[in-house]
Amino acid sequence: MASAFSHALVALAMGKVSGHPVMDLRALGLGVLCAVLPDIDVIGFGYGIQYGDLWGHRGLTHSLVFAVLLSAGLVAVCYRRESGAVRAGMGLYLFLCAASHGILDALTDGGLGVAFFSPFDTTRYFFPVRPVAVSPIGIREFFNEQGLYVLASEAKWIWLPTAALFVTFRALKVVCVRINAR
Ligand SMILES: [Zn+2]
Repeated sequence: MASAFSHALVALAMGKVSGHPVMDLRALGLGVLCAVLPDIDVIGFGYGIQYGDLWGHRGLTHSLVFAVLLSAGLVAVCYRRESGAVRAGMGLYLFLCAASHGILDALTDGGLGVAFFSPFDTTRYFFPVRPVAVSPIGIREFFNEQGLYVLASEAKWIWLPTAALFVTFRALKVVCVRINAR
């Protein structure tokens, strides 16, 4: 896993980059939930589920199918009274938040890969380039020197690129608005 901080940061950045008023606290909170929830699978370790199992860590809850079901379910419950456009936009945002989790995990240098296509294909995948130091499983293990090392790695490979993309997209939006205003 990448740390929950980085998963949450990416969700917040994706939510705020549009500047759309629908991206209120509730929307951002749901985005963060979608981005961190896939790691709920770690509780399976306590019940004898092995890392490489269907329900193991980085298994089904890290898949694109899970991202679709989670985002669609949350939109159906939390945005049922909104317009079709808002529901479609929120569905896409929440899906991207949930899917971003597996993408970040597949960039880490440890553990097993991510079962992006589970349950249809349970193969675990990594990206060819994996610069992000893997975060330890467990809160106690995180708050020591290893945690600092992981955060430094994530700052370099996740936080800085996220901030750079955020500033770039916001600047492009300002430019587009100015061109359209002429
Ligand atoms: Zn994960």
